[in-house]
Amino acid sequence: MNLTDIQELDSIDPFAKHREQFQLPENKVYLDGNSLGVMTKATETRLQNVIQQQWSQDLINSWNDHNWVNLPQTVGEKIAHLIGAEPEQTICCDSISVNLFKALTSALTIVQAQDSERTVVLSTKDNFPTDLYMVQGVSQFLGQHRCQLKLVDESELEQHINSKTALVLATEVNFRTGRRINAKQLVANAHKNGALVILDLAHSAGAMPVHLDDWQVDFAVGCTYKYLNGGPGAPAFIYAAKRHHRTMSQPLSGWFGHARPFDFSPEYEPAAGIQQMLTGTPSVLAMSAVDAALDVFKGVSLEKLREKSLQLSDVFHQLLKTHDLDDVLQPIFPEQRSERGSQLSYHYEHAYGLCQALIQRGVVADFRAPNYIRFGFTPLYNSFEDIWQAAEQLRQVLAKNEHLDPRWQQRNTVT
Ligand SMILES: *Cc1c(COP(=O)(O)O)cnc(C)c1O
Repeated sequence: MNLTDIQELDSIDPFAKHREQFQLPENKVYLDGNSLGVMTKATETRLQNVIQQQWSQDLINSWNDHNWVNLPQTVGEKIAHLIGAEPEQTICCDSISVNLFKALTSALTIVQAQDSERTVVLSTKDNFPTDLYMVQGVSQFLGQHRCQLKLVDESELEQHINSKTALVLATEVNFRTGRRINAKQLVANAHKNGALVILDLAHSAGAMPVHLDDWQVDFAVGCTYKYLNGGPGAPAFIYAAKRHHRTMSQPLSGWFGHARPFDFSPEYEPAAGIQQMLTGTPSVLAMSAVDAALDVFKGVSLEKLREKSLQLSDVFHQLLKTHDLDDVLQPIFPEQRSERGSQLSYHYEHAYGLCQALIQRGVVADFRAPNYIRFGFTPLYNSFEDIWQAAEQLRQVLAKNEHLDPRWQQRNTVT
């Protein structure tokens, strides 16, 4: 595959025009949208307006006049479109970690009202650590008689669901390996065995079609700063299936989750629906940024986006093969396309140095301990020529041993 073939792919790319909506960094190939998405031009315009008009001029009236008070709902509904959720089940708030606390406690309450013997939260050993830490915290808080974490291999998750399982906590796409589980099948199996499912969509929302309602997922969480381009530390989202709204209850019972917050009543009375998942005042600047960023997805077919994402990853790996690098960098991602997320991960002894040397050359990938390098593909702003450039720079770094530079012995705090 030569550069002309690559440029041909760009010329027929249905998303080629979308790239113009992003404020792409100059002279860089950015393959880290799975960690921090690129800023959209609309975000910049919106934030300027929020600062210069809404906050500085309209001040307190903006809660009503600019609909600040409903941001969690309006942003939530935009996200709902991307995750296969009918309205009134998704809301934007807090971080994934905090939302996991709410989902875990809500789901445990629902399951244990039926069967108090179900106390196990089943998850995978190499799940994203915060997911596991939050279960450990809930376990300490509620006690072992309500919540015990059981960790198994990702490939054996379904086998371990039994009469003690209250919940299965699974991440659809593994952050290290990029492996995608079959969420639909997992939910069907969990339900057949009397357990509920909490799905983490950190690496799926905005990267591929997700069908929460169809799959009958019970609760889901996800972040907006990765594939949704909401900005560093942008607020996350939580989904609760409508069938659970009457019985769910979460203990972070702040006033924004009250049925009538502005009654200022001393008694907590949870709001009827998904709003109950709110706790405190929304972070208006951050949520406005998410709101604006989500508009790049208007009219985007997630099926087509998925197809381009897989094609980008196919082309990247093919180019590594052409450069005879597929033995040097060992793929740890699944060969099957359907089992892939929107990233490719490789094991390499000097992965950290390689990543740093690539960044020096303007190709941004990232490193995950102990020895993995990840390349994230974001179809709305990555071109095929980006991929070609990345593979070419990778070849040159390795040919010139730039990855062995002593400068890379010392690791930064954030990798
Ligand atoms: C990025 C990520 C998180 C981050 O959680 P925060 O609380 O938003 O910091 C959680 N889970 C997974 C699977 C992730 O990839």
